[in-house]
Amino acid sequence: MLEDNYKQRGLRNKLVKILEKKGIQDQRVLAAVGKVPRHFFFETALLDHAYQDKAFPIGEGQTISQPYTVAFQTEKLELQPGDKVLEIGTGSGYQACILMEMGVRVYTIEYNRVLFERTREFLPLMGYKPYFFHGDGSKGLPAKAPFNKIIVTAGAPIVPNALVDQLVEGGILVIPVGDREKQYMLQIRKKEGKLIKTEFKGFAFVPLLGEQGWKS
Ligand code: SAM
Repeated sequence: MLEDNYKQRGLRNKLVKILEKKGIQDQRVLAAVGKVPRHFFFETALLDHAYQDKAFPIGEGQTISQPYTVAFQTEKLELQPGDKVLEIGTGSGYQACILMEMGVRVYTIEYNRVLFERTREFLPLMGYKPYFFHGDGSKGLPAKAPFNKIIVTAGAPIVPNALVDQLVEGGILVIPVGDREKQYMLQIRKKEGKLIKTEFKGFAFVPLLGEQGWKS
């Protein structure tokens, strides 16, 4: 039984204040964090940690991202209601829920079959129904392209060309790029045949695997 009581809502409101202090400004993003019950994504033993601003294990060697990182990436997507958004790295599904709370259509792809199946079953129980795909998101999702926005939630060695190709004119890609241990966040805007890049330092993700990612 999924329960969201006053204690958890209180902790969630505190988390929102922490993210605001750390520099998240978009009130729509903060409202989404305030709405999605992050503790639903935690096993019983870790429940007390659900509203800390930290990444946590979700099994299969993967993590639910740190709330600040989720909020930061979401903010950098500059979402507009109705946007068609591709998320690469479904993981627990938490980021997908935040995106859905922003009023956009979400296509989410996961490489790990266990996580793909688990999250595809679990998210609708919470009332969230993005379009789920299993496969190598380093190649994007050509069958459903183009997208207004693309978010990559695993650390890439390079910016895959396929992702840029699958953006509409004026679209935005937010992707962590670097070595296996640490990355910088790139916001890439596709505009009039050019790519306008903005870089933000200080992020650490699990690796993006696959053809345009790390090999293992
Ligand atoms: N967005 C997730 C969440 O809210 O819980 C966090 C994802 S976790 C940091 C990164 C995810 O990317 C893992 O679940 C991993 O299996 C997945 N991943 C890694 N390489 C991938 C690829 N090539 N295509 C799709 N998913 C991939």
